[in-house]
Amino acid sequence: MPETTSSRPSSLRRAAAAFVQWFDSDHAPGGEEKIRAEPDRVDWFRCIPFIILHAGCLGVFWAGWSPFAVWSAVALYFLRMFAVTGIYHRYFSHKTYHTTRFGQFLLALWGATTVQRGALWWAYHHRHHHQHSDEPEDAHSPHVHGFWWSHIGWITSRRNFPTDYTKIRDLAKFPELVWLNRFDTLIPFLFAVGLFALGWVLEIYAPGLHTTRWQMLFWAFFVSTTVLFHGTACINSMAHLMGRRRFKTSDDSRNSWILAFITLGEGWHNNHHRYMSATRQGFYWWEIDPTYYGLKLLSYTGLISDLKPVPQSIMEEAARADLTASIAAAERAAILHPEFSSFKKVVPAAAALAVAAVNTGQVLTPRRAQGPAIHKNIAELVEQPTNPTAPPPKA
Ligand SMILES: [Zn+2]
Ligand SMILES: [Zn+2]
Repeated sequence: MPETTSSRPSSLRRAAAAFVQWFDSDHAPGGEEKIRAEPDRVDWFRCIPFIILHAGCLGVFWAGWSPFAVWSAVALYFLRMFAVTGIYHRYFSHKTYHTTRFGQFLLALWGATTVQRGALWWAYHHRHHHQHSDEPEDAHSPHVHGFWWSHIGWITSRRNFPTDYTKIRDLAKFPELVWLNRFDTLIPFLFAVGLFALGWVLEIYAPGLHTTRWQMLFWAFFVSTTVLFHGTACINSMAHLMGRRRFKTSDDSRNSWILAFITLGEGWHNNHHRYMSATRQGFYWWEIDPTYYGLKLLSYTGLISDLKPVPQSIMEEAARADLTASIAAAERAAILHPEFSSFKKVVPAAAALAVAAVNTGQVLTPRRAQGPAIHKNIAELVEQPTNPTAPPPKA
């Protein structure tokens, strides 16, 4: 229900609340339910840190670059993409493997460095997406809200900031996770400071790298984190628009190897929407899923265990779907390309010729059998008495 004009807080009060929420994301004057019930609208003041994240990328023009700073940005992109996909998505959202309570806390810390808010906020919204995929309630469906809203708009909407802890009770029962979720800017801030400090240490102790503290801040934190956000957001926007659909799910999720490359395996989104409880999203060896390989490696350390496989019934359904799709594709090709129509006439003709050739061979076989004994049925040779009038076999 939209608020009435009289109950709407003043802009100043809203800005003050947003300022507190930069540090305490559970701060919700008037109640979270009320905020969630509001219509979608961008909360510009609340989004200032997010805008700074993007604007900070421009700092590279002032700080310059060095190979170490740029490679750090690339490495941190993939290390933290793994945290988004392997931790926030495949553990906190779907519990596709097991870990201890301490292991879970370590994973949540790793996930927090991605600057994609707390693990519980992420899991709550993602579970909601699975429940209402491509329906009006879906916060980020490109079919309902358009491309840009599904990519970036929804995350700036005031109603999407609070975490509904009642919908993720399995996670909300751990106070340490709730704490990390509530103060979700703390770890990103410490992470940025840590990278800045690393750059400073390199300036002093490894001047040969020509890497400065500002380069580490702008490349390894701002650029890497911003690109990481957009790489992740491609799943919300592009993975429901681009690629092929193996399973006829009720949503429009798709499989795309390009998105799988960008997101370390999340591009097999149609597979995932069909069966979200499996640790792997690439169902076949050729569906490259680096997050799964990473989790498999992590399981050898003992930090995680019980990775859930794709059930046999789903694999059989996949095989049937692939077969149906290839038959449909062949039929479409025959209609679209007339040359395939003449090819259809050639194929039966070639088959008839092949059958005739085989039959001819069989007809010829008895004649050859009159030759060497090896062509004859040995049983016949043993049981049938030799006819003395028959001509002697040819050599
Ligand atoms: Zn989806
Ligand atoms: Zn999911």
